[in-house]
Amino acid sequence: MRKKQFKAESKKLLDMMINSIYTHKEIFLRELISNASDATDKLYFKSLTDTAIDASDLKIRIELDKENRLITVKDNGIGMTAEELESNLGTIAKSDSLNFKNENKDDENLENLEVIGQFGVGFYSSFMVADRVEVISKALGSDGANKWVSEGVEGYTVEPCEKEAVGTTVILHIKDDNENENYSEYLDQYRIRELVKKYSDYIRYPIVMEMTSQVPDKDNEGEYITEVNDEVLNSQVPLWRKNKSEIKAEEYNEFYKQKFYDFTDPALVIHSKTEGQATFDALMFIPENAPMDFYSKEFEKGLQLYSNGVLIMDKCADLLPDYFSFVRGLVDSSDLTLNISREVLQHDRQLKIIAKAIDKKLKSELAKLLKNDREKYEKFFKTFGVQLKWGVYADYGMNKDGLKDLIIFKSSNGGYVTLKEYTERMADSQSDIYYACGDSEEKIALLPQVEAVKEKGFEVLYFTDDVDEFAIQMLMEYEGKHFANVQKDEVDLSTDAEKEAVQKKNESSKELLDKMKEILGGEVSAVKFTNKLGKHAVSLSAEGYVSLEMAKVLSQMPGGGEGVKAQLVLEINSDHALAKKLEEADEKTLEKYTKILYNQARLIAGLTVENPTEFADMICELM
Ligand code: ADP
Repeated sequence: MRKKQFKAESKKLLDMMINSIYTHKEIFLRELISNASDATDKLYFKSLTDTAIDASDLKIRIELDKENRLITVKDNGIGMTAEELESNLGTIAKSDSLNFKNENKDDENLENLEVIGQFGVGFYSSFMVADRVEVISKALGSDGANKWVSEGVEGYTVEPCEKEAVGTTVILHIKDDNENENYSEYLDQYRIRELVKKYSDYIRYPIVMEMTSQVPDKDNEGEYITEVNDEVLNSQVPLWRKNKSEIKAEEYNEFYKQKFYDFTDPALVIHSKTEGQATFDALMFIPENAPMDFYSKEFEKGLQLYSNGVLIMDKCADLLPDYFSFVRGLVDSSDLTLNISREVLQHDRQLKIIAKAIDKKLKSELAKLLKNDREKYEKFFKTFGVQLKWGVYADYGMNKDGLKDLIIFKSSNGGYVTLKEYTERMADSQSDIYYACGDSEEKIALLPQVEAVKEKGFEVLYFTDDVDEFAIQMLMEYEGKHFANVQKDEVDLSTDAEKEAVQKKNESSKELLDKMKEILGGEVSAVKFTNKLGKHAVSLSAEGYVSLEMAKVLSQMPGGGEGVKAQLVLEINSDHALAKKLEEADEKTLEKYTKILYNQARLIAGLTVENPTEFADMICELM
């Protein structure tokens, strides 16, 4: 019998498979099962219009023969004729989509291999684990059967053979183990069951295998007997394919916990069916708690990607923007296929469309939660809100518009507020959205400037996360209202008369203030009197773009800080008894007072005191 040559591209692919360093060799089984399932689909659809076709017992059977090192995958699908065996298995079928033409360099080959590994490598992946592959097939409607055999790149043969039933049987002669690879694992029934569960659990035909087990012998205590039973390895109906109305909350919860190894029920379940530009089912979860490794480098975002119930990627990062990295779940699309013979580019485009739809869905679900279950939303936000705020800031604010109504802040009114709520309840006389920064709500509430703004009856947003101020700088405004940091000099709520009075005081005290600035030797860019401090004596504010809080954050960043310093202004309450004391002080006392006031102001602002010993000594002296 004459050996036939593979087509050039097929030969190349085959060669890659045989010499593959691809680490997921186990996917060969997924590929064979998917092919069997496709062939069974074809027969099933034919049977819908042709009553002569028996489609009553469609299944896929796996047989293991440890002794002879054989894995057999049998289906009673549509089968292949001799010509089909040749054209389907002798070439990369149908299109030369995966461009193997210009890949002469080895490293490129490997790159391609990774890509196809994610989408489906097809029948040839058998050669990753087998050194001889036999395909025995009888096509629907033909009398005879044929056998295709190949031992690799050398070629293949096709010859007639005996086969009773319509369908295809693929027999893999498993390679011998070597120092690098343990191929024998694929002859282990538990390993095979595991692989079917992992990759092919939702194939809609039963995948059956004989499982051998030891059970206690009823007649002889202490003795065991060997039992062999057919077991259906796959659960067949994917939860996400079912109708929402048929699924109970516990089912979702159990599914989530099992699949994503969590002990806690998810905080939110999002199950959607999308049709249109892209057709897909998505089942997503927002965990109650951040996973242990969430803030570590090891954490990988992504959704599982299925093609018609077959897992093709475990963590598809492209499906989730970074600000939703906490979302777990999966996407199943019939637009993506396992087939190697489809455009990889097309996959990419489809994937992008799906990702966009998912982003939109998650945003709308969160908006719904915010509207309908405030308590739950706030709990969610406490856990994952920082992500959303980073999302506003990241990528030069590219996503800020989609996220700005999902972020909430604590405020001086107590509790959380959205930017919308804030602007809606702003007083007519209020021009800006006020905020203040600090380590905790409590500390911010005690800031003199915050007290002063509150006294005027205005609400102040409390920024306690590092990212907060960066995020709103990126937003710039909300509904035409600008953000104003009350710790900055730019916020001045006093009346014209009050302003004038302070200005006069500053002018008449210029000599004193300059002297104080000089005493502080470059630490501050100005010292001035203010009327904004209520009953408090001093505070520190910042001039220019960089606020105190931003300076603190930046200085903590590796390599950051040095260049960016806030320009500090020491503000002294013009109405405070202390103002008079300063005016009356002699040179030595003024120096002491100035240093003490400055350090107090630093402490109030949450900054450290540079020379704590000197500071403590000076205070003791006064006492
Ligand atoms: P594909 O990605 O197209 O499935 P494969 O290399 O896996 O590529 O298979 C090539 C073709 O061989 C399939 O498209 C199908 O037509 C045919 N084929 C493979 N396995 C079977 C099977 N078990 N029954 C019927 N046809 C099959």
